[in-house]
Amino acid sequence: MKQIQRFFLVSLTALLLTVFTGTWPTIFKAVARSSNPVYVAQSLNDLAPILQQLPTSVRDRLTTFISGDELYRQGDAEGAAAFYRQVKPDFEVSDTQILEPIYEAEALSPESLADWQQAQLALDDDDEAGAIEALQSLVDREPAFIPAPVQLAELLMEEDEEDEAIAVLEEAATLHPYSTEIIMAQVETLADEKEYLEASIAAREFALLNLDHPQAPEFQALADEYFEKFSKRRRRRSIFGAIGNLAAGILTGDRVPWESWNSAVETAELVELMLASESEFGASLAAEYREQLPLVEDPDVVDYVTQLGLEVAQLMGRDFDYEFYVVQDSVMNAFALPGGKIFVNSGLILGANSQAELAGVLAHEAAHSVLSHGIQSFFRDDMLSQFADEVPLGEFATGLLSLQYSRNQERQADILGTRVLATAGYAADGLRNFMATLVAMTESAPPEYLSSHPNSESRVAYLEEMIQRNGYNRYALEGVDKHLAIQAKLS
Ligand SMILES: [Zn+2]
Repeated sequence: MKQIQRFFLVSLTALLLTVFTGTWPTIFKAVARSSNPVYVAQSLNDLAPILQQLPTSVRDRLTTFISGDELYRQGDAEGAAAFYRQVKPDFEVSDTQILEPIYEAEALSPESLADWQQAQLALDDDDEAGAIEALQSLVDREPAFIPAPVQLAELLMEEDEEDEAIAVLEEAATLHPYSTEIIMAQVETLADEKEYLEASIAAREFALLNLDHPQAPEFQALADEYFEKFSKRRRRRSIFGAIGNLAAGILTGDRVPWESWNSAVETAELVELMLASESEFGASLAAEYREQLPLVEDPDVVDYVTQLGLEVAQLMGRDFDYEFYVVQDSVMNAFALPGGKIFVNSGLILGANSQAELAGVLAHEAAHSVLSHGIQSFFRDDMLSQFADEVPLGEFATGLLSLQYSRNQERQADILGTRVLATAGYAADGLRNFMATLVAMTESAPPEYLSSHPNSESRVAYLEEMIQRNGYNRYALEGVDKHLAIQAKLS
C-alpha cells in the first residue's frame, strides 16, 4: 500500500513537472521503472520536433510505441510488451478463416456423410459422373474434408477434365496450405499434365511453408526435379521457336533473314537467362526499372529499407541477391521482380506506421519472388508468345507488372511473409496492420496497392487467425521510433 502511495506521489510530481517543463525528470524514470511500466524513452527527445506537429491523440499513441521500442531494443521484451498492449487492442473475434482439416468420414455432418457415401456407392457402380457430382457437392458443403477434393481431382483426371481437376486442387491448396495430401495430389496432377513449373512451385511452397515437416526435404527434391524438367522443355520450345521464326521470316519475305535470326536469338537468350538464374534475370529487369523510375538516393532511407528487407528476406530459404529500391512516388505501392529485386514507393513508406509494418510489406513482396510467382504468371499467361518474335526487355518488364497474382499466390506470400516477420523479431501483425490501414482507406480512395492485392478484408482476418494459432508475438519490436525518423526525411 505504501509503495502505491509513493508511486502516485512521484507520478503526480513528475506529471506536474512535465506539464510545466516539457521534460520528464530523471528521478521519475528511476523510481517508476522498478514499480510500473511508466517509462519514457530517451529517443523521444530526438523525435520531439516531429511529434510536436501531430495532434495530441496521435502523439500520445506514438509516444507509447516509442517507449516500447526503446525497451525492446534494450532487451526488455516484457516491459516493451506492456507498452505495446496499451495501444494495440486485441483482435476482434471474426469468423474462422483457417479450416481445421477433417480426415475421417465419421467426423462429417449427416448431410456431408450422405454425399460421401453416395459418391462411394456410385463408384462401386462405375458411375463416375454420379460420384463426381456427389463429391462436388461435398467439397462445397464441407471444404475441410481432405479426402473429397483429392478423390474428386482423381476422377476428373480420369474423365479428361484436367483443368477442372487442377482448379479443385488449387482451391483446396489455398484452404489447406499445410496439408501434405492436398499438396502432393496437386504436385502430382500438375506433373501428369506436364505443368512442370507449376508442379515445382507448388512443391517448393509446401517445403518453405512447412520447414519442420518431415516431408519438407522430399517436396524440395520434387521442386528441383520438376524445375529441371520445365527448363528442358522450355529450352526445346524456344529453340524450335527460334528456328520457326527464322523460317517464317524468310518464307514471307517480311524480314531479311538476319533480322529474324537476331530477334529469335534475343528471345531465346531471354528465356535462357530466365531459366538459368532468377536472380540474374531479375537483375536485368531491375536495371530497366532503375533507368525509368525516379529513385530516392538518400543513403539513410535506402539503407533503412535495405537492412529491413534483408532481415526478413534472408530467412526465406532462397539464395538470391536481394536488392531494394525506393521510388520517389506518392502512390502507396510496392512490387517484386523475380530473384528478389524489390521496389517500394516513398508513398508506401509514408503510409506504413512502423518498421514492423514496412517489414511486413517487404516480406510479402520478397515471398512473391522466393515462390517464383512472377515467373509463374509470366509462363502461365505465355507472355512470350504475345510478344511474337521479339521481346524487348523494357516491354517485358512492364508486362510483368500488369500481372495479377492469384488468391492462392497472395495467401502463400502472406503466410511466408508473416512467418519470417515473426522470426525476425518484429511485431508479427505488421503486415496485418498495414493491410487493415489499406482497408480503412478504401472508403475514401482505394490505394493502388489494393488493386494488385485483392480481398484485403478476408486477408486481414486470415492473418489474425494465423498469428493467434501459431502464437506469433504481436508485441515484439514495432519500430515506430526509427520509422518516424526516416519518414521525416521523405516528407
Ligand atoms: Zn502480393
